[in-house]
Amino acid sequence: MILSVRNHLLYSGSSKIPQVPSPNTGGIFSPKFLIIHYTASGPASDVASYFAQESADVSAHLVVRRDGSLKQCVAFNRVAWHAGKSQWTGKNGTHYSSLNNSSIGIEIENWGPLQRTGDRWISWRGTNVGRSKVMEARHKFGTPDCGWEIFTKAQIAATVAAARAICAAYAIEDIVGHDDIAPGRKSDPGPAWDMKAFKASVRAQISRGNSLFGETVQVQLTD
Ligand SMILES: [Zn+2]
Repeated sequence: MILSVRNHLLYSGSSKIPQVPSPNTGGIFSPKFLIIHYTASGPASDVASYFAQESADVSAHLVVRRDGSLKQCVAFNRVAWHAGKSQWTGKNGTHYSSLNNSSIGIEIENWGPLQRTGDRWISWRGTNVGRSKVMEARHKFGTPDCGWEIFTKAQIAATVAAARAICAAYAIEDIVGHDDIAPGRKSDPGPAWDMKAFKASVRAQISRGNSLFGETVQVQLTD
């Protein structure tokens, strides 16, 4: 899948990715970071439509559903409300707080943490999540071991494609998780999201000779 950014909107070929505009936005900005989130929801809820409600008081630039389909809710040059109280130190030592003002947010449809009940895995909403969709792990910031819903291959492919397009269009300094910029307060995207592999995959395709994120990396691309 090859995506591109035109006029701050995501395109697949000559077709715009479906738009579900959110009113929950701030001003125009120049994004420096890409923040990965999970929605903490299942396929029955349409998070993009939720972001379209003013009462939701939150938004993200993109939503990736379990089938890998994408919806754009906020143009990439406009602040979306996905990061909340957050902070991060950039590669050159610059300190950022309230990362809504410096980052693009991608929300990936996923339940996040799951609790074991007997031989079943249950979401915070009480939904049963099939064993084949669950991995057990400890969050890097030390929460107890629990289950985590596995992201689908289609979601990973779509998110890589979107991130490549975004990194090609904007001076993105780094890609981080919501848990990185709000440790302890947020757990997403959590241990089921292989951030190292994701970043390598994004970087491998777009940089070819450049060094994105200030690192030199050698990756064998298989796609
Ligand atoms: Zn988040």
